[in-house]
Amino acid sequence: MGVEDFRLKPARTRIAPSPTGRFHLGNARNALFDYLLARKTGGQFILRFEDTDRNRYVPGSEEEIARVLDWMGITPDESPFHGGQYGPYRQTERRDIYHQHAQILVDKGHAYPCFCSPERLEKMRKEQEAQKLDRVQYDGLCRKIDPDDAARRVANGESHVIRFKMPKEGTTTAHDHLRGDILTENKYMDDYVLLRSNGLPTYHLGAMVDDHEMKITHVLRSAEWLPTFPLHVQIVRAFGWDEPVWVHLSVFLKPSGKGKMSKRDSAAAMKDGYSIFLDDLRSLGYIPEGVLNWIALMGWGVAEDELMTLDQMLERFSIDTLTPSPAAINFQKLDHFNGAHIRLLAIEDLAGRIKPYFTGAGLEVQNDALLKITPLIRERLVTLDDCLAFASFFFKDEVKPNPEDLIAQGLDVRQSAEIAKKVYEILSSLPDISHQIVEPPLRSYVESSGLSANQVFGILRVAVTGQKVSPPLFESMEIIGREKVLQRLKMAIELLEKI
Ligand code: GLU
Repeated sequence: MGVEDFRLKPARTRIAPSPTGRFHLGNARNALFDYLLARKTGGQFILRFEDTDRNRYVPGSEEEIARVLDWMGITPDESPFHGGQYGPYRQTERRDIYHQHAQILVDKGHAYPCFCSPERLEKMRKEQEAQKLDRVQYDGLCRKIDPDDAARRVANGESHVIRFKMPKEGTTTAHDHLRGDILTENKYMDDYVLLRSNGLPTYHLGAMVDDHEMKITHVLRSAEWLPTFPLHVQIVRAFGWDEPVWVHLSVFLKPSGKGKMSKRDSAAAMKDGYSIFLDDLRSLGYIPEGVLNWIALMGWGVAEDELMTLDQMLERFSIDTLTPSPAAINFQKLDHFNGAHIRLLAIEDLAGRIKPYFTGAGLEVQNDALLKITPLIRERLVTLDDCLAFASFFFKDEVKPNPEDLIAQGLDVRQSAEIAKKVYEILSSLPDISHQIVEPPLRSYVESSGLSANQVFGILRVAVTGQKVSPPLFESMEIIGREKVLQRLKMAIELLEKI
């Protein structure tokens, strides 16, 4: 494993996805960098769920996230599934903690109960929009209520939310590790809701409290949080806590590099046989090593074609080398890295990974044959499922070539059938079908006949593999075996004779 850098304090990092959808590239990249930072410094990587939006909750989503992290090889150290001493790791199980913390802010004068009804807020919003103010903000009505009165109303059970009392004057300086100081005038910031009337926190309170309670040292998150970053900094300071190191990762651009990636772009990617969802990439035959390498280079300032395993990433990783520059999602690069990492796998490993595709297609797979086939097709695989197109013929009882394909270039049906017969004769006269035994007589037939190797071997290839492109022919025939090769050749002759 990678060397731990003991100059750095052990980092505690986290992803905090909402189980409201599927685990996508953004989540995966966040998780990867979190994992690398934690491992590099001898710290921990945590998974917690921000599951307060019960209307959008998707059953199975939590399991998908955990499964994908395992698949990527970046299993969290602490999570609802793995436990840990800072749990619970689901926000809905931490209600009391948010309550207590909201109360602390109220007591300190940094937050206040707001009793405004949704109808009043809606009316206020419409009025502000009609006045064409540059931003709609809470008008601060409940900010003016005497705290004792407010406390009495709360004690009486009056429905309310808790809002943050954002300073109205001055500026907030928030420091992002990649972007430096970000200065915001406080008047642009709203009195955001911290605790909803149902007692559940908004992201602003929930995430800040959890990060503090879980002793998170580095918050890596999406750049979509930059607009409310000053609020988060203010909340942390209002509690009097130390701030974590904040890292807002780069935004993703469309494959063309022009404009931000949208839902529509994701749908287009799916139509092209790609996906931005990790679980889909897995079933599309991408391997975690390739996917990780591809993801790592989106927002990490290493050379764009750098081939790295997770261990190599660990050796080189530092948050100082992350970059805020937008990263284009380029699926051709994914293919490139996937193929490259497939070629780095040991044969036994790769054989084990392609086997389920064959068995899934109903083929019976002999392991010794599979181990011989794997090196023959390894160079050609972009995704694991490509093995089916290249190598199913090995395991089939019989192949069904397209008769037209059996006609060699520049020859007619009759001539092609003659060649097939001649080849059959040669092969059936030989004691076995090993590469060394069959190649010399076939080559001397090619020479004496005045035909080209392409013509003769082309017919033979289509006859025994059923396809025009295949792994090396002689090696393939050896694996298929004498009896089956002869059978297939015979069938090809019959097909030619029927044309
Ligand atoms: N639930 C938030 C999201 O999925 C978490 C953001 C964060 O990492 O703080 O965007």
